[in-house]
Amino acid sequence: NNNPNQRLRIAIQKSGRLSKESQALLKSCGMKINLREQRLIVHSENMPVDLLRVRDDDIPGLVMDGVVDLGIIGENVLEEECMLRVSQHQDTNFKLLKRLDFGHCRFSLAVADEDEYTGPQSLANKRIATSYPGILKRFLDEKGVEFSTCMLNGSVEVAPRAGLADAICDLVSTGATLEANGLKEVEVIYRSQAVLIQSDKKLNSENQAFLDKLLMRMQGMMQAKESKYIMMHAPKSKLEAVVALLPGSERPTILSLAGDDDKVAIHMVSTENLFWETMEELSALGASSILVMPIEKMLG
Ligand code: ATP
Ligand code: MG
Repeated sequence: NNNPNQRLRIAIQKSGRLSKESQALLKSCGMKINLREQRLIVHSENMPVDLLRVRDDDIPGLVMDGVVDLGIIGENVLEEECMLRVSQHQDTNFKLLKRLDFGHCRFSLAVADEDEYTGPQSLANKRIATSYPGILKRFLDEKGVEFSTCMLNGSVEVAPRAGLADAICDLVSTGATLEANGLKEVEVIYRSQAVLIQSDKKLNSENQAFLDKLLMRMQGMMQAKESKYIMMHAPKSKLEAVVALLPGSERPTILSLAGDDDKVAIHMVSTENLFWETMEELSALGASSILVMPIEKMLG
């Protein structure tokens, strides 16, 4: 159906930390999108989908207001919007469909390296720079700590040095930015990753069926990411011990080896990334030619 009002609308971040992986996820589900165009709305060439590319801050509101059907957004931004809307007595309706396992970060309090920190009370009556004042306020209110905020939408980490604030509360993934700015992380107050959310507005049956299919495909992509295809040669006598080291849902395939009656080839999908430690244990059991291969897609 080509009626624009009946196509499924998905909001994703236009450019930033979530945009690449949001696009890659949709593409991996078979969606053809021409992203060279810098337009706000991009029509998929092969699916009844329009992508809306916006600032990430706008995504939760677009979903809650039913302007778009779906959105891919960091939980921290979603949470912040919820808190803002609750305080303004606005609707916060949406469904969380899926955690997407990318865009992982923590929202943490940090103070100057030389500052003493013994707990949230150390921040009493201090000024804290942040981009997400709602989540910060909820945390410090629960601890009964009075503070003031300095709202910054960027460069939060330079605020203490610039004399704008005594501490910061910001998103951290490796901590390198904090370190480079002479700050230390003292408290993790929220953990976030990218999520797929849906508006409460009912979809027509075609779009619902299409969404169901999309979700199945996403599930398949995520399952594949967590799984590995493993092949090895192992002594027949150690079969049970070998299989016990490899968590998997299906039984392994056992193949005989030409000219060797003591060993067999084992092929299986393991639901866990295989670490060197496990490979070394397999090797100690007498396994050889241990190969671990990535899986691109999985169904069923
Ligand atoms: P926009 O221009 O769309 O408003 P932005 O500057 O607000 O972008 P980004 O820096 O692109 O946002 O981050 C988007 C999201 O990526 C964050 O809200 C967070 O959920 C996630 N994220 C993951 N790792 C980090 C990190 N190290 N620092 C900041 N955000 C991170
Ligand atoms: Mg933003």
